[in-house]
Amino acid sequence: MKIGAHLHRIGNDIVAAYLVDTDEGITVVDAGLPGHWRDFQAELVAMGRTLADVRGIILTHGDSDHLGFAERLRVEAGIPVYVHAADADRAKGGDKPKASMGRVKVGALLRFFAYALRKGGARTRYLTEVHEVNDGDVLPLPGAPVVIGMPGHSPGSVAVHFAVADAVCVGDALTTRHVLTGKVGLQPAPFTDEPTARSIRSRGWQGLRRAGCCQGTAHQ
Ligand SMILES: [Zn+2]
Repeated sequence: MKIGAHLHRIGNDIVAAYLVDTDEGITVVDAGLPGHWRDFQAELVAMGRTLADVRGIILTHGDSDHLGFAERLRVEAGIPVYVHAADADRAKGGDKPKASMGRVKVGALLRFFAYALRKGGARTRYLTEVHEVNDGDVLPLPGAPVVIGMPGHSPGSVAVHFAVADAVCVGDALTTRHVLTGKVGLQPAPFTDEPTARSIRSRGWQGLRRAGCCQGTAHQ
């Protein structure tokens, strides 16, 4: 679905991924769940594009509900996958600290897991090879994405800023709908290692037209 100039989104308000479309090709941010592969291909068709137009994929962090079709894209189409150095191991299936789920509403929790299961969340495919990035990097990809370190949700959580789309993809640093409680409004996403999410408050997002959250709707 096109949600703005140069900006497309697949998935829904539970799990989403973004495509930034420029004359130089497409940069993908996050890869949802394995079952989003079909949504991804359908979106490319709707855009009049093909896999050959995809230049790279950036993971906002290494949690399994963001890895989706990333390894498949890497293996089948030779597309490089970028992730912050501090989350590279997590993206490859390494240990992650047990994060507290906090307060949970059963209905919202079931909706999250039902959707995750339907989209193949039970068969996570971890990365075997990644390009590690760091805070401040400008990646050699369409839209010249700028990596902004946002440790909190995980040590290697990042936001990705695209000036061309006037948008920032914040991953799980923020969500517009808490998948475990159903609470609506901008807030840190669940399964956060460091729930105080200090890095969110230290960043000034004022003036940005779009903050795309990977769980929740795009905030305009
Ligand atoms: Zn996460």
